Amino acid sequence: MDLVTVKDKQFAISLSEERIRQRVAETAAQISQDLEGKNPVFLAVLNGSFVFAADLMRGISIPCEINFVRFSSYEGMNSTGSVKELLGLNQSLKGRTVVVIEDIIDSGLTMQELLVYLQKFEPTDLKVASLLVKPGNMQVKLDIDYTCFEIPNDFIVGYGLDYDGFGRNLPAIYTVVEG
Ligand code: 5GP
Ligand code: MG
Repeated sequence: MDLVTVKDKQFAISLSEERIRQRVAETAAQISQDLEGKNPVFLAVLNGSFVFAADLMRGISIPCEINFVRFSSYEGMNSTGSVKELLGLNQSLKGRTVVVIEDIIDSGLTMQELLVYLQKFEPTDLKVASLLVKPGNMQVKLDIDYTCFEIPNDFIVGYGLDYDGFGRNLPAIYTVVEG
């Protein structure tokens, strides 16, 4: 078994570089086909989605733009929390086809709030592309247009996702080994 240690925990490989590469390329091809002629704006949600966004973008074969956004604070973001402010959005979304790029959708609460927030900018169409989705944890009904992988509820790191700040550099995706 391919094991890595990040800080104080052990993780076992669950999605190899090759599987991720293939699936991300497939997703990019699908988006390119679906959004042909729409000149979409991608909005990559930092920090976690930066690796996925970079790979996804390189597979997009239609004219497009990308912006990187982040929330001013994740503090208090729980079932009752709210997105305080979105930083980094430096272009108009009015009348545009927007594709939010996320690393992972867990309870779905973050994405739900983000979508409500983004609707205020009056995009024509608002779509979601998430590298990972944990359907078992979903607490809200979300329409996720593009999902690369559905995974179990276990904690994962790598390919942009962190454990306490570390592990983002791992090229594959690893699941925590409870023990
Ligand atoms: P949600 O609001 O959907 O519950 O939370 C989504 C956020 O939780 C993600 O953007 C990510 O920051 C964090 N998250 C959820 N599950 C995991 C996981 O397994 N690993 C890591 N690194 N972050 C996770
Ligand atoms: Mg995230």
